[in-house]
Amino acid sequence: MSIPDNLAAILARIAAARKAAIRPAPQTRLIAVSKTVAESGIRAALAAGQRLFGENRVQEAMAKFPPLKGEYPEAELHLIGPLQTNKVKEAAALFDTIQTLDRLKLAQALAAERDKSGKCPSLFVQVNTGEEPQKAGILPKDAPALIAQARELYLPVTGLMCIPPLEDDAAPHFAFLAKLAADNGLTQLSMGMSSDFELAIRFGATHVRVGTAIFGARESH
Ligand SMILES: *Cc1c(COP(=O)(O)O)cnc(C)c1O
Repeated sequence: MSIPDNLAAILARIAAARKAAIRPAPQTRLIAVSKTVAESGIRAALAAGQRLFGENRVQEAMAKFPPLKGEYPEAELHLIGPLQTNKVKEAAALFDTIQTLDRLKLAQALAAERDKSGKCPSLFVQVNTGEEPQKAGILPKDAPALIAQARELYLPVTGLMCIPPLEDDAAPHFAFLAKLAADNGLTQLSMGMSSDFELAIRFGATHVRVGTAIFGARESH
């Protein structure tokens, strides 16, 4: 299957999952996760009409996206991988949304960059719902305080993001994230990947992050 065929198939599955869901989000947007994908692959997706992309490394995204964004001004880019404070300046300049806010230090760095350059992407807080020590994301019990602190810094926090443990049933993680968002007045929910985006839609995903099912298998990351 080609990238345009894959995209069409995923969009059809998203539509069907929304139809089958009892309470889907008002809309569910497809993030085409283009990490490790060459520019030609991203161009194929753009030509097929896809405008929303996700990358997990600032450096890699900086190498690929600036010219593409020049050609496709409506293209939108989300950071879905961990962000180090020393890359905040570059990330704020390139990304429309950063989905991986997970600590106060990073919130403070983003606020300082906003004050300096005026650039401030929308933010999702990443929650480590599986409480996995090696994984990024704030622990669930600490999430409400981080959301409040980010709001005190006038940062535009709009949603939550999670990556459930590979070996777990994702359903309780998605349900938990949806409740945490509702309890904290957040409307955006980034959850679900190639293997489980239809399940995430049942739990109210507003953004699904799909890589492999669009671009094929990756060799690394
Ligand atoms: C790579 C990645 C995805 C996409 O995963 P697939 O299984 O290829 O769809 C989604 N979210 C994050 C955070 C990723 O790093």
